[in-house]
Amino acid sequence: MEYILELKNVSKSFQDDLILDNLNLNIKQGEFLTLLGPSGCGKTTTLRIIGGFLQPDEGEVIFDGKNIANLPPYERNINTVFQKYSLFPNMNIYDNIAFGLKIKKMPKDVIDKKVEGALELVSLKGYGKRSIESLSGGQQQRIAIARALVNEPKVLLLDEPLGALDLKLRQVMQTELKKIQEEVGITFIYVTHDQEEALSMSDKIVVMNGGLVQQIGSPIDIYNEPKNAFVADFIGESNIVDGVMLKDLEVVFSNNKFVCLDKGFKQNENVDVVIRPEDIDLVKPEDGMLTGVVENITFKGVHYDIVVDVKGEKYLIQSIYEKQVGEEVGMVIIPDHIHIMEKQRDEI
Ligand code: ATP
Repeated sequence: MEYILELKNVSKSFQDDLILDNLNLNIKQGEFLTLLGPSGCGKTTTLRIIGGFLQPDEGEVIFDGKNIANLPPYERNINTVFQKYSLFPNMNIYDNIAFGLKIKKMPKDVIDKKVEGALELVSLKGYGKRSIESLSGGQQQRIAIARALVNEPKVLLLDEPLGALDLKLRQVMQTELKKIQEEVGITFIYVTHDQEEALSMSDKIVVMNGGLVQQIGSPIDIYNEPKNAFVADFIGESNIVDGVMLKDLEVVFSNNKFVCLDKGFKQNENVDVVIRPEDIDLVKPEDGMLTGVVENITFKGVHYDIVVDVKGEKYLIQSIYEKQVGEEVGMVIIPDHIHIMEKQRDEI
């Protein structure tokens, strides 16, 4: 079977608000898929529909070839890890992890082995007898993951599982989670609004906004070839300026003609021109395709963030060279770094 999970034309409203609008998603066995989007875009709603905690108003949830839209959560071979770890505080770590296996009435020696394996997987071997409150936030999150994995679900849903951790620990856990996922080969469906987290962990990213899928692709595709200005802006920083396509391979923005690589737009069509801050080279004013005046400069460690005013339009440029506020600079943008996008539709 090609897909372990498919959402077909799934829609969901709360009161009169349409939260998911005809959502279609195909998820492969063993894939690390991330739902990424701003707060309120419908990520958690999608996850809850997959987990069985919510019913869709319309559409199908196909799991292993069968429509499970009406099955309760416990009858689905799917487990969920929440941001709030939801561990049982009155039980020790062993009992927390063993909970689901005991309900299934597995023999004690089998449970012992599985719990030991799960603890090893999350690098907490030997922690079984410890109490929950003796663990740090990061360790508690590992236990929550071990408790979900020990049931050997076919799909694991993770709703912002690292959201409560500080940045350093979050980065460590990102690497570990990815490693665990590769080791166990279980399909992970991960929800986050953090684009860096999505880029570094996922095989496939689904960018959502306002209940609509904006783009589905690998992290590299989504970063390098964003489909519209929303995706470009949400994934990393972007300059988005108004442009007009003169003809194939020729665009005007900031009162200048540029060669680009895009074709197929109407003559004189209004477009969004998207340029990444790291893709603009600063040169002497006389050598620039555009010239402007440095308005602001911030040291960022590896580079400077430089805001350049080009006759009222502001460009963010990342450069390793320091400039002075008020200095005149030239800007060079090669065709490969000019991304032309259709003007966004109103609902996006
Ligand atoms: P966040 O990152 O903030 O968790 P999200 O993308 O996961 O956001 P959802 O939790 O799916 O967003 O919510 C989408 C929209 O649906 C929000 O506007 C939310 O207020 C609304 N919503 C979610 N659950 C309910 C509910 N049970 N009743 C009414 N409205 C709801």
